[in-house]
Amino acid sequence: MRSTRPGHYRRGMSSALTERARELDAHHAGTDLRGRFRLPAGLVYLDGNSLGPLPAGVSEAVADVVHRQWGSRLIASWNESDWWGAPTRVGDLIGRLVGAADGQVVCTDSTTVNLYKCVVAAARMRPGRSVVLTDPASFPTDLYITAAAARDAGLTVEYVAPVDAPARIAALGEAVALVSYSSVDYRTGELWDLPAITRAAHAVGALACWDLCHSAGVLEVGLDEHRADLAVGCGYKYLNGGPGAPAFLYVAHRHQDAFDQPLAGWNGHATPFAMAPEYEPAPGVARGRVGTPPLLSMLALEAALHAYDGESVADLRARSLSLTGFFLECLDALLPDVEVVTPRDDARRGSQVSLRHPHAYGVVQALIARDVVGDFREADIVRLGFAPMYLTHADVLRAAEQLHAVLDGAEHERPEFAARATVT
Ligand SMILES: *Cc1c(COP(=O)(O)O)cnc(C)c1O
Repeated sequence: MRSTRPGHYRRGMSSALTERARELDAHHAGTDLRGRFRLPAGLVYLDGNSLGPLPAGVSEAVADVVHRQWGSRLIASWNESDWWGAPTRVGDLIGRLVGAADGQVVCTDSTTVNLYKCVVAAARMRPGRSVVLTDPASFPTDLYITAAAARDAGLTVEYVAPVDAPARIAALGEAVALVSYSSVDYRTGELWDLPAITRAAHAVGALACWDLCHSAGVLEVGLDEHRADLAVGCGYKYLNGGPGAPAFLYVAHRHQDAFDQPLAGWNGHATPFAMAPEYEPAPGVARGRVGTPPLLSMLALEAALHAYDGESVADLRARSLSLTGFFLECLDALLPDVEVVTPRDDARRGSQVSLRHPHAYGVVQALIARDVVGDFREADIVRLGFAPMYLTHADVLRAAEQLHAVLDGAEHERPEFAARATVT
């Protein structure tokens, strides 16, 4: 990789970019929601796709849960503050962000656990079929749990890249029970064709399950519109629910009666307080619940979701595309030789831009030292997430300029940036 040397030409370009950032920020002023977050001053946070920042109001809401609901009201809060109803109540709030009408999303467990439920339930909903299709480049936990669930449910996993999925589904025909993909690739940021893959699954009578970890809250997923069958996703990424926030599970209305998930627990029971010895699943999506939820985390997520109040995901998507598009423009101007692995076509880009660099880990560490926080993903990816609500085009330009400075000064080669921490 060669980096452009600073000089008059670059300074001119830089002032043109500054002007362009100003124009774009003015154009998108209506979706500048920085005031809804508590971000450290001076930080350009490009890691909201790993851990969203703290939204305003969450500390106060959690303090109320701890001091009043728990501390003063104790067990009464299960009814008074409707702790029992939190999973479906929070589920509906998430549903609005992913195009699901009320009553189809439950906030529960982790993405990994929810995916396990979906794969086994899908096998039971499509008896006599033997194959689950998934992406070999999936996030590893999706690969591990899909393989484990397939083994438990008697399915065979076939690994097919999303672009090849429709043809392969058609070729396999009625052997396919489930097609399970991520909507956005966690590593490259590529947005896959959810409508086309879902249609291909339905054409052979199979179900489609979508992992929305990198799309919920930043782009229009349209679960109902595209007739997705099942979906899962994270609460702590773009939904900003906080470290370890619970995840969500979507089961389309038409499948809920047949959704026979394997983790039978009392929170998913039709009459939990009847203390019946036999399991009978609750009606509706509540049957996706298992045991007692982590209420401090779930209620923090509920408060965090207020950051989306009154905002349309379509408007946030427009801002997100403008931010990532402008970052690509800045790279073209300042660092034309940097290798971008995220598609330039808006229709194929999620809300991140990923770069390939042989010293990717060092690049990320050197950027962090300059107050631009992204993350590293094996083997050689610098991953930069552009959450639309709290980033501006001025931030985007600053990130590109800092990246230029890092590469120009070979800061990424410094030994202090080579030591790997546990979490990268
Ligand atoms: C972040 C992420 C996960 C995380 O799963 P957990 O069960 O919350 O640890 C799973 N899948 C994808 C695609 C992710 O991006």
